[in-house]
Amino acid sequence: MKIAVLPGDGIGTEIVAEAVKVLNTLDLKFEMETALVGGAAFDAYGHPLPEATLKLAMDSDAVLFGAVGDWKYDKLDRPLRPEQAILGLRKNMGLFANFRPAICYEQLVGASSLKPELISGLDILIIRELTGDIYFGQPRGRRIATDGHFPGAEEAFDTMRYSKPEIERIAHVAFQAARKRKAAGTEGRVTSVDKANVLETFQFWKDVVTEVGKEYPDIALDHMYVDNAAMQLVKEPKRFDVVVTGNMFGDILSDEASMLTGSIGMLPSASLNTKNQGLYEPSHGSAPDIAGKGVANPLATILSAAMMLRFSLNQPEAAQRIEAAVQKVLAQGLRTGDIWSEGTTKVGTAQMGDAVVKALA
Ligand code: NAD
Repeated sequence: MKIAVLPGDGIGTEIVAEAVKVLNTLDLKFEMETALVGGAAFDAYGHPLPEATLKLAMDSDAVLFGAVGDWKYDKLDRPLRPEQAILGLRKNMGLFANFRPAICYEQLVGASSLKPELISGLDILIIRELTGDIYFGQPRGRRIATDGHFPGAEEAFDTMRYSKPEIERIAHVAFQAARKRKAAGTEGRVTSVDKANVLETFQFWKDVVTEVGKEYPDIALDHMYVDNAAMQLVKEPKRFDVVVTGNMFGDILSDEASMLTGSIGMLPSASLNTKNQGLYEPSHGSAPDIAGKGVANPLATILSAAMMLRFSLNQPEAAQRIEAAVQKVLAQGLRTGDIWSEGTTKVGTAQMGDAVVKALA
C-alpha cells in the first residue's frame, strides 16, 4: 500500500503529521513518501505541482493531502498559484468524484450554529463532480494576465460545460452510494442540484441524471435548484440523504454543509477516479490565520485517512477503528479551539492526535 503524503502549506503540515501518526499506530504496512506541493513547492522549485510530486501521486494507491495556499501568493499568475496544484492533481489523476460526508457527532451538537434539533443525527453525503464545469472551461483573460489581474481588460469570462459521459458517471456514483447507504439504514434518496431554470448546462445535467435514475428504481430521485438547496441545507438539513451536483455548486454547498456540523475542522473528503485511486484531504484550507500555532483541528485529516483506508486501500476495519477512536476522544471531552465549548477540555493539534492514537490502542 503506497501512500503519497503531500502536507502542503499553512496548517497542512501540522494536521497531516497527526494523521500519519495515527496511520503508523495501525498494524498495517504502508510505504509512505512525502513531497512538496502548493506554495511550499513553488518556493522550492518555482511550481506548485512539480513533476516529481505529480509522479509520486500518480504512482501511489492514495494521496494524503493537507491543504495549500497563502495570501502571499495572491499576486502570482494564476497557473503558478498554490491552489493550481489541486486542480492539476484532480485533472491528471482523473479524480472526478468528490465525496464529502457531513455527519454531526452527537458530542458536537452544541458546536453548530443551528438549533440542536435540526442537526442532531445529521448524516448526509454531498457528491461533487470534480473535473468538469466552469472550473475546467475555457477562461478568457488568462493569456493577458501579468500579475494575476487583467489591467485594461473590459471583460472576462469562463465557460460552463458538461458532457453526457461526465454527468452519467457521477450520477452512477451517486445512485450507487445511495444504495449502499440504504443498505445501512438511510432513506435511499438522491437529490440532484442544478440551475436548470437559467443555465442550459444544468437543464442537460437534469435530463441526464433523470435518465440514469431509471436504472435505480429502488432509489428516490428529486431535483432542486441550487439557490433553494442552499436554503434547505440550513432550514431542514436532515431532509437530504445523498446530494449530487456539479463542480461549482458542489464547492459552495459542501462548505455550507460542513458548517452544519460545527466546524470545517471536522470534515474529511475523498476524491476518487475510476480505479478507486484517491486523494484524501480535509474539507478546509490552509488556514494561514492559525498556521504554526499548534491549534488547528487535525480530526478532518485523520478522518480523511480513515476514508483512504476504506475506499482506496481496502481496509474497512482499520477505517472503522479510527472513526471509533475519534468518537471516543470527543466523548472524553477533548476539543480543539474551533469546536470547544464550556465544560470541555481545550487541546492543541498534537495533543488531539496523541489522544486519537491512545484511543486506538
Ligand atoms: P480556510 O478553510 O483555510 O479557513 C477558514 C476559517 O476556518 C479560518 O478562520 C481558519 O482558521 C478556520 N479553519 C480551517 N481549518 C481549520 C482547522 N482544521 N481547525 C481550526 N480552524 C480551521 O479557508 P480560507 O481562509 O478561505 O483560505 C485560506 C487559504 O486556503 C487560501 O489560500 C485558499 O485558497 C486555500 N484553500 C485551500 C484549499 C485546499 O487546499 N484544498 C481549500 C480551501 C481553501
